[in-house]
Amino acid sequence: MSKDFKISGRDNLFSQLEGLYARIQEQYDLTAGSIGLDCRACPDNCCLSYFQHHTYIEWAYLWHGLMKLPKETRESYLQKARDYLVQQDRCLREGRTPEIMCPLNVRGLCSMYGYRLMICRLHGVPNQVKMPDGSLRKFPGCIVCQRKSREVSRIPVLDRTPYYIRLVELERKLRKGSARTLPKVDLTLAEMLVKGPPEFSIDQ
Ligand code: SF4
Ligand code: SF4
Repeated sequence: MSKDFKISGRDNLFSQLEGLYARIQEQYDLTAGSIGLDCRACPDNCCLSYFQHHTYIEWAYLWHGLMKLPKETRESYLQKARDYLVQQDRCLREGRTPEIMCPLNVRGLCSMYGYRLMICRLHGVPNQVKMPDGSLRKFPGCIVCQRKSREVSRIPVLDRTPYYIRLVELERKLRKGSARTLPKVDLTLAEMLVKGPPEFSIDQ
């Protein structure tokens, strides 16, 4: 695993990604607020959900955060990620969707909150996305949100589409800076941890 990784114009791309995350947070808070959804009072935990992630930029940004941690802390997350993958493989072999706590969740909270990936930032509230073929995919939000939604007369829906478009733009910029063609990303967060930071043979 490379301990230091280089991305062309990395800091600029990361600050654009932070800008995108801030916009999402603002919209998420408005949507959650109008439903009365509050993660702090949550009896559930959505960090058991099984998600794949698809961008190098989010993978790299997560590692950017991980590299700031003390080595022992980072190593403890990596060990949890290796354990996660053993369980993940077992579930998939048995034809079950894995329901395993994310290796970055510590005592019910996200230990990498500022660096968590987009889906972690959107999952809770009702949301929708327009797919490239024009179809609309709708998501009802987390279980707690679905219960809460029954109490409101008009359920607000967060539109993910502009955020995905922006994420794809940033991903394209990152890929353009690469000296080689990068393979597709289709990884769980635990796989992103165990694989180490994405390696790019490109300039700073
Ligand atoms: S990265 Fe954080 S928010 Fe996302 S699943 Fe893991 S612990 Fe939960
Ligand atoms: S998003 Fe929903 S399930 Fe996840 S912590 Fe918040 S209230 Fe709980």
